[in-house]
Amino acid sequence: MMEKTASQPPERIVQVGTAYQFKDYSVQLNQLLDLYGDVISCTSIGSSVLGKPLWCLKIGRGPRKVHVNAAVHANEWITAPLLLRFIEAFAAGCKQRGAQENESSLECRRWFDNTTLIAVPMVNPDGVDLSQGGIDPACSWAEELLKWNGNHSDFSKWKANARGIDLNDQFPAYWEEEQSRRGITEPAPQDYGGTAPLTEPEAIALAELTSREQFDYVLSLHTQGREIYWNYREYEPEIAEQLALRLAKVSGYRAVKLGGSDAGYKDWFIYRFGRPGFTIEVGEGVNPLPVSDFDEMYGQIYAIIASIMDS
Ligand SMILES: [Zn+2]
Repeated sequence: MMEKTASQPPERIVQVGTAYQFKDYSVQLNQLLDLYGDVISCTSIGSSVLGKPLWCLKIGRGPRKVHVNAAVHANEWITAPLLLRFIEAFAAGCKQRGAQENESSLECRRWFDNTTLIAVPMVNPDGVDLSQGGIDPACSWAEELLKWNGNHSDFSKWKANARGIDLNDQFPAYWEEEQSRRGITEPAPQDYGGTAPLTEPEAIALAELTSREQFDYVLSLHTQGREIYWNYREYEPEIAEQLALRLAKVSGYRAVKLGGSDAGYKDWFIYRFGRPGFTIEVGEGVNPLPVSDFDEMYGQIYAIIASIMDS
């Protein structure tokens, strides 16, 4: 075993074991707040269908507002610790002083002064738990959930919330077109947008936060494909493509111009506010992506968020 030396970085709080459920997230979040409560503030912006708080973290005091959300899709839960680890690095950098100061801590302090990062790392906590732990027997619609999952007890392909509604098909941006394109008329593991836009508490909380805060930039983290989606029906601002190319360059991902997709969070953000919004498809493989890819993906996500913080 290697001995610890002074030059080794301190143990990180945000770690991923074989799973990452809401309780793991909550424990790490509390540890971060214990250590960095003077730079990170945390509020709940609502509750999930099953009553879990939807935590929103704020860090920075600058006029530019950057929003990043993650784990909108249940089996893309690895995006939650990716985003939380970025917040940990940002907070740690802000607090390094004197001999600890380096290029990265100076960068973090610059972000802190110029920008406010507003993050919702786990938009769909019920789905995250369902996709990893299966049905909670206490859930009063356990039987329906099983039926919506094709009578399979394995929920590892589940993307939706606890009512079988796909939260990234819930936003009022040509929602009707998306529903008729999908052709799914009842709750399902993915792609069912519900009976109307914004019926689900998780989507409502995100839309209300966005309207209240008037973000300048948004990133929504999904898996997988190493792609960056940056346009929406030509409602995107002119700078969006250029920004996407820059994000692609720093991460090694591809900037992709998409058509034939509506009602997603970034679609609605671009449509409603006309500002740059991006969906980032992190990593490559079959969802849920393996935890062994975490560190590599973290490097890519760090580069993407850092680039937006500096834009
Ligand atoms: Zn997704």
